[in-house]
Amino acid sequence: MAQILSGAEVVAALNERTARAAEELKTQGIHPQLAIVRLGKRADEISYERGATKRCEAVGVLVKSFALPEEATQDELFALIHELNADATVHGVLLLRPLPAHLDDDVVRNALDANKDIDGITDKTSAAVFTSRKGSFVPCTPHACMEILDHFGIKLAGKRAVVVGRSLVVGKPVALMLLDRNATVTLAHSHTVDLPAVVRDADIVIACVGQAKMLGAEYLRAGQTVIDVGINVDETGALVGDVDFEAALEVVEALTPVPGGVGTVTTSVLAKHVVQAAERTQ
Ligand code: NAP
Repeated sequence: MAQILSGAEVVAALNERTARAAEELKTQGIHPQLAIVRLGKRADEISYERGATKRCEAVGVLVKSFALPEEATQDELFALIHELNADATVHGVLLLRPLPAHLDDDVVRNALDANKDIDGITDKTSAAVFTSRKGSFVPCTPHACMEILDHFGIKLAGKRAVVVGRSLVVGKPVALMLLDRNATVTLAHSHTVDLPAVVRDADIVIACVGQAKMLGAEYLRAGQTVIDVGINVDETGALVGDVDFEAALEVVEALTPVPGGVGTVTTSVLAKHVVQAAERTQ
């Protein structure tokens, strides 16, 4: 039976450190603050915003929410982003995406001050991930994967890792982060030939495909560590990952659950990034 890599355990350790750092900043008159910008009323975004707000407030990070109508113009959104860039009391900005189709995502996200880009959405922060330059914030979800691996002492150097999914928000950055830690990384996607064999070959599997329970027993073998990033709803309406949890439990060495794995760690990483951004203003 596999070890379950519980997000709650990682969250507890992360939150304790973040709360201590936030407290230390407050003694110097700095209150770490996150601004969340949302356009429209998508249920998943409202739910993420609620979870992020709760998590931030629990560790002493203030949160200001800005809800614009879905039909807000690019100029209106720019005006808000520029206002937040200029506001010294705001240390991090979380822009909930995807943006409505009438807005140019490339232009909007790059309007954000890179120093406040705590979810790594600007090209400047992506470039820092690519060049391994320190000082920028990597996107919160891939960072959460790394926090989990580190918390449970999973060795990465020399290991074969496969990342299934190559999005800019998860797959590509996590592949680069694993490479940076000296894993030998394969980045797989929908054109990969014989994906089950490619995944079986790896010691560490990061599943970020967005397909409910896609990685079943034929993809897995003994000794693997599996990090399941997927958040999907199955045919019964249940929240499930990209990995068939029951099948994996019987086969692999360790795996994250869904829910209660990567998703729960992501908002703690977000709070940590806001506190780090505030520390850099000292
Ligand atoms: P995405 O942009 O849709 O990317 C999915 C990737 O998976 C693509 O690269 C795609 O390949 C690949 N893929 C899709 N079907 C495949 C298949 N049958 N075989 C092999 N590869 C396949 O998704 P995302 O935004 O990265 O999100 C992935 C999952 O993570 C989703 O379930 C999402 O809800 C979840 N997520 C979780 C968090 C969190 O905090 N836990 C945060 C973000 C996302 P191609 O490039 O070839 O099309």
